[in-house]
Amino acid sequence: MNPQPVTTAVQRPKLTLPNGANKVLLHSCCAPCSGEVMEAMLASGIDYTIYFYNPNIHPKKEYEIRKDENKAFAEKFNIPFIDADYDMDNWFERAKGMEFEPERGIRCTMCFDMRFERTALYAHENGFPVITSSLGISRWKNMQQINDCGKRAAEKYPDLTYWDYNWRKGGGSQRMIEISKREQFYQQEYCGCAYSLRDTNAWRREQGRETIKIGTKYYGVEDEA
Ligand code: SF4
Repeated sequence: MNPQPVTTAVQRPKLTLPNGANKVLLHSCCAPCSGEVMEAMLASGIDYTIYFYNPNIHPKKEYEIRKDENKAFAEKFNIPFIDADYDMDNWFERAKGMEFEPERGIRCTMCFDMRFERTALYAHENGFPVITSSLGISRWKNMQQINDCGKRAAEKYPDLTYWDYNWRKGGGSQRMIEISKREQFYQQEYCGCAYSLRDTNAWRREQGRETIKIGTKYYGVEDEA
C-alpha cells in the first residue's frame, strides 16, 4: 500500500477502482498532469504504479526533463515508477503520413493508442487489473478521444479494465495547477511531439512571439529567458 500524500487538507471525493480491483497501473505523461491524479489516489488509499511510456516527446532533452521530474515526484511518495523505453523510432514510424495533421486529429489518436497499447500489455503481463492515465486531465486534450483509445487497448485483454475516471471534476483541474505551482514543476509549452513543437513555434512566429526555449519555464517561477 502506498503511503499518505503530503497534501492532506484538500477535500476530494473518495475514489474506488472499478470491479473492486485492488491496484491500478497509471500511465503518466508528465508530473504536472499526474500530480493531482497521484495525490487523489493516495488520498483514497489506492495502490498504484506509474508507467512512463511517452515515445512521442521530442527532443530527448524535453523527454528527459519531463520523465526525471515525474520520477522524482513519485519517489517523494515511494510510488513505484516504471521507466519504459523511449521507443522514438517506432513513434515516428507510426506517425508517417500524419505529420501535418492538426492536434486532436488522427495523429493524436495514433499517439494515444500507442501509449495505451504498451501500458495495457505491461498491465496484463504484470498482474494489474486496471489501467488509467493522466492524459485526460489537461483541458487541451479531447477526453473522449483519450478514453476511446484507453478502452480499445484494454479490450484486448479479458482480465483488464480501463478506468475512465474524469480527473478534471471536483476541482481536479484547479488542483493540477495548484500542485504544479507548489512543486514548481516544469511548464511544458507544447504537447510533446516534434510536430506540435513545430506548429506551436510557427503560431508564435505569426503572433510575433519568441519561439520555445526548452527547459526554461517553470510553474510559479518568473521566466529565465
Ligand atoms: S500533438 Fe500531442 S497527442 Fe498529438 S501526436 Fe503530438 S504529442 Fe501526441
